Amino acid sequence: MEKKRFLSGDRPTGRLHIGHYIGSLQNRIKMQNSGEYEPYILIADVQALTDNFNNPEKVRKNVLEVAMDYLSCGIDPNKSTIYIQSLIPEVAELTVFYSNLVTIARLERNPTVKTEIAQKRELFGESVTYGFLGYPVSQAADITAFEAELIPVGEDQLPLIEQCREIVRKFNSIYGETLVEPKAVLSKSPRIKGLDGNVKMGKSLGNALYLSDDLDTIKEKVMGAVTDPERIKKDDPGNPDVCMVYYYHKLFSNEDTCRNVCEECKAGKRGCVACKKQLIEEINSALSPIREKRHYYEERPKEVMDILMAGTENARKVAKQTMVKVKKAMKLDY
Ligand code: ATP
Ligand code: MG
Repeated sequence: MEKKRFLSGDRPTGRLHIGHYIGSLQNRIKMQNSGEYEPYILIADVQALTDNFNNPEKVRKNVLEVAMDYLSCGIDPNKSTIYIQSLIPEVAELTVFYSNLVTIARLERNPTVKTEIAQKRELFGESVTYGFLGYPVSQAADITAFEAELIPVGEDQLPLIEQCREIVRKFNSIYGETLVEPKAVLSKSPRIKGLDGNVKMGKSLGNALYLSDDLDTIKEKVMGAVTDPERIKKDDPGNPDVCMVYYYHKLFSNEDTCRNVCEECKAGKRGCVACKKQLIEEINSALSPIREKRHYYEERPKEVMDILMAGTENARKVAKQTMVKVKKAMKLDY
């Protein structure tokens, strides 16, 4: 039986963080290791340029950083095709074709795009670029170029997957059944909050805890985490439900610890500083094997680049096959 393809990726605008890891990467690794799928993992440098067009150096540098994060947390190049988006020109070509199938009003209504535009006022001022508004179209090209059926993503991506599905249906209804309609795969924690209490941990939100952060950095970030603001003294009863330290304990600590944290906090028997120190230990022990493995790759950038080039070569072959089908359907097969 043919294996189902899954595709997922990240924008090289910074290193990968806990949000990526718990929200999507762990799912990808699980799916990769099950042997039931054919995984494609893209480093979306073209998409990163849509809001970093004035900073190409940043994007270039982070391609390698993201690749090192992948390799150190368990994406295995022998099982997954890891590739660089800009080296697949078929994706850019598909984007042009799909741009006829989506209206400007529909893109402007996309909740994810809307939120992101509001966050990027400083960059865009009053008027957003054509490229940024259109990134859901290029994301539809990323997915369909590989005929990917499953897309492991965080919750913020759902409106973008829906946009892709609409484009696929429109394409197929006009040009004949050609493209595959993808489905999102969400993790149990599809939206990881920031330690600052923000509804999302994000690179561009300045609240990220990176997979590669060292112990001192973890300490500094966790010590600054938002706790129950009503709790002034150590023995005041606290409300763990509004505390980011408890929220992160639930992600990193075992059930017994979480129960203790919750009960002791409510009873005013647990100080926030001690609670944070315990969390620092838990996070550090989860991240230290990833960090160790990363040191290996940090010293071998050429090995990482070779992996990306081999993956890209493999990916290009698949995208070319899809392109033949698309051009035939669109009567562009001269
Ligand atoms: P940026 O701020 O530059 O957009 P980001 O932190 O949102 O960066 P992306 O590279 O845009 O990261 O996201 C890549 C993938 O990681 C997507 O599938 C996204 O849903 C997922 N992801 C990112 N942040 C989180 C989060 N806080 N919780 C769950 N999933 C997340
Ligand atoms: Mg994002």
